[in-house]
Amino acid sequence: MYNKSPKKVPMPELDPLIRNANFDEVALGYTAEMAIEEARRCLNCKHKPCVAGCPVMVQIPEFIEKVANGEFVEAYEIIKETNSLPAVCGRVCPQERQCESRCVRGIKGESVGIGRLERFVADYYMKNVNKEPDKPHPNGRKVAIIGAGPAGLSCAGDLAKLGYEVVIFEAFHMAGGVLVYGIPEFRLPKEIVKKEIESLKAMGVRIETNMVIGRIFSIDELFAEGYEAIFIGSGAGLPSFMGIEGEALVGVYSANEYLTRVNLMKAYKNNYDTPIRDSNAVAVIGGGNVAMDAARSAKRLGADKVYIVYRRSEDEMPARQEEIHHAKEEGIEFLTLTNPIRIIGNEEKRVTALECVKMQLGEADESGRRRPIQLENTEHLVDVDTVIIAIGTSPNPLIRMTTEGLEVNERGCIVADENTATTREGVFAGGDTVTGAATVILAMGAGKKAAAAIDEYIQNKNKG
Ligand code: FAD
Ligand code: SF4
Ligand code: SF4
Repeated sequence: MYNKSPKKVPMPELDPLIRNANFDEVALGYTAEMAIEEARRCLNCKHKPCVAGCPVMVQIPEFIEKVANGEFVEAYEIIKETNSLPAVCGRVCPQERQCESRCVRGIKGESVGIGRLERFVADYYMKNVNKEPDKPHPNGRKVAIIGAGPAGLSCAGDLAKLGYEVVIFEAFHMAGGVLVYGIPEFRLPKEIVKKEIESLKAMGVRIETNMVIGRIFSIDELFAEGYEAIFIGSGAGLPSFMGIEGEALVGVYSANEYLTRVNLMKAYKNNYDTPIRDSNAVAVIGGGNVAMDAARSAKRLGADKVYIVYRRSEDEMPARQEEIHHAKEEGIEFLTLTNPIRIIGNEEKRVTALECVKMQLGEADESGRRRPIQLENTEHLVDVDTVIIAIGTSPNPLIRMTTEGLEVNERGCIVADENTATTREGVFAGGDTVTGAATVILAMGAGKKAAAAIDEYIQNKNKG
């Protein structure tokens, strides 16, 4: 029976005042009954507009129909044909701007909860099915991948399916990229990322950790080792700073450093000895997902006051609506149309306040967003002991500095064509290292595209 409700079946969540003191996952996921009820809202549209909104073209109506029939394993198999990390995407994809933004049910109500259903199916499969993925027949060819983030992992998965021997070289001691060092446990439990990675390993993908390419091996040395093509998926992990006075004070972090300490090095657990400052009042500068994650983590680490300081209005914030809503529920205060101009410290060089000015919005700039303009005589102090800067990142220059013939653009991103080929023969690139900071699913889409391009490149090379 078709479910006519204009609203999505609500997803149970932990109470805001309980969850803001722990790192447990906030959204609890659907039960089987809830998933079936939500799946019955789908109209199974013939022209599938939702699929065109998904960068990896998950066959949405087909998998949802299986969910509506209670055939969850079959639903999983459909999703897995095009998406190698469904439990991750179901949780962190900005669905409201992707698949769900095209859903016809969204015209007169809320779209079908595609992400919620994808998450349910992936979690169901992880809990209930213990089947090793098929190990493809080896084709005798080797490909190296730099970086074990979503781009590298999805490229590896597709190449392994084609029979390639795939080795991923990862700089950190753990695979997952931003999924493990950036996005916090309360949004994406690390156990889930680990399980998704285990299933890639079971297909034969080898992951070499603590391997910084550009230091331990260069790209030329990898070719000399017999790799026939190389994919660079090294992300955009280099934080940007504002260039204002006081950024070197004790108590100032980049969001990347702060979140890495919390997530990868488990600073929130008593039995880990990663140092992190006890903070009472924290200002997080920025308005994206990274800023929301840093602010919500600071709250959970015990800060009494946590502010988001953002120079435009809430309407222009790039963070997902859901994250802004969750942050507010957890007690994060939003200081919008506010721009920091100086970080102030005491004699011990520790942060004591953030000096800000008020802004107003002018005409739209080249990005289409209204330009913030400073208002005269509005200087004021916000008392804080910690400042976290979350205003963006760019690719680390190490690989381009150690690789001949690899062109980068003015933002330091590797230049690649629409098929992910770079200016260096045999070297392909995708994900944040090409686009600058973007999304998990776009990085995965690039990884998939690169796997197809690498396969074609190696086949052509060996023909001629
Ligand atoms: P990464 O995930 O950055 O992975 C790159 C990997 O390469 C890393 O593991 C790195 O250690 C490794 N590496 C780098 N240099 C080298 C080297 N020289 N040698 C070997 N290995 C190297 N996106 C969403 O869709 N939804 C969200 O909710 C969301 N939230 C986010 C929250 C935070 C805090 C952050 C930081 C990002 C968020 N994003 C989100 C963005 C998303 O995570 C990224 O767009 C995505 O991870 C990019 O994937 P990638 O594989 O290109 O790079
Ligand atoms: Fe939507 Fe992301 Fe799933 Fe694609 S992968 S269907 S964009 S949730
Ligand atoms: Fe179902 Fe919406 Fe896709 Fe139509 S557009 S098939 S209703 S998810």
